[in-house]
Amino acid sequence: MSRFLLPRFEALSPYTPGEQPRGIDRLIKLNTNELPYPPAPAVREAITDQTLCDLRLYPDPTGRSLKRALSGLYGVGENQVYLANGSDDILYFAFLAYCTASKAVYCDVTYGFYRVFASLVGAESTVVPLKEDYTVDVDALCRAEGTVFLANPNAPTGICLPLSDVERIVASDRDRVVLVDEAYVDFGGESALSLLSDYDNLLVVRTFSKSRAMAGARLGYAFASEAIISDLERVRYSTNPYNINRLTLLLGEKTVENEAYYKSCTDRIVKTREKTRKELLDLGFSVTQSRTNFLFASHPKAPAAELYRALKERGILVRYFAADERCKNHLRISVGSEEQMQVFCAMLSTILKEFI
Ligand SMILES: *Cc1c(COP(=O)(O)O)cnc(C)c1O
Repeated sequence: MSRFLLPRFEALSPYTPGEQPRGIDRLIKLNTNELPYPPAPAVREAITDQTLCDLRLYPDPTGRSLKRALSGLYGVGENQVYLANGSDDILYFAFLAYCTASKAVYCDVTYGFYRVFASLVGAESTVVPLKEDYTVDVDALCRAEGTVFLANPNAPTGICLPLSDVERIVASDRDRVVLVDEAYVDFGGESALSLLSDYDNLLVVRTFSKSRAMAGARLGYAFASEAIISDLERVRYSTNPYNINRLTLLLGEKTVENEAYYKSCTDRIVKTREKTRKELLDLGFSVTQSRTNFLFASHPKAPAAELYRALKERGILVRYFAADERCKNHLRISVGSEEQMQVFCAMLSTILKEFI
């Protein structure tokens, strides 16, 4: 830290991303919920020499063609679509627009960035504990005052709240924004999109990072009332209107055109997830009912910290949240390919013999 940093940033404790090691070909990487499959062939063929030459030009700041494609795919008005450089940017802009020196509400066990953004914009946070079984306390969220940030399905628990409960939260106070972060919805979650026509305080946030094999391209999108979208555009045009590069815009469009390919990828992940979950249960783990591309598991006899280390020594990387009181005996395991998960389960079964 330099002596120039303003005091309000000294106290900031930034988000810790999952490890992104080099030489991943020798690793089984199950720690940041990426898709194990590559983008669709048509997406991979979209980058030509001409598209690279065109990089000398600024991208379209309105992202009109990609917005049109998303509006067509999801049946939402073009003016109700928002694009960003990863969905983290959308979360940040929402915190900036609605919570600066105001109030934010989120669960204790959820996406770690909500806490970081709240502290960045100086929001007063109401942190609502999940129930003992890691499900969301819907009544407490309804009662709490302030902009709500709800990951659904939740991370790192994987658990999905039914649409009726999400609607209860959105309806509990129509004079506040309820942001539903649907980063994992394509793996079997129930989307809040159908509520959009009835609630102008709902903001649904999505990403191409998890189900669309584009984490490295950075592309997030959101759906909301035209008024909320215009709030976010106001913030974006006040920071960086060219926030999505030309290549990513193009790849995003091609991705939307190849929906069937991605549906087959997410179907495969769901199948592998259920198979892996059953194997973990057979090994004595407790595992939440995940509707995502990861599993949240703990073992009564083998501490998560030691399993994490033993797996890492053998070249398998999973996510371990050492600093979180309610998660520190759990592992969050991304669902990789069928073959990766077979290796993972075999390795885990060997490691467990040291503890039982
Ligand atoms: C991964 C993730 C994000 C961030 O996604 P990007 O689009 O890659 O920024 C947001 N919310 C949740 C719950 C996530 O797991």
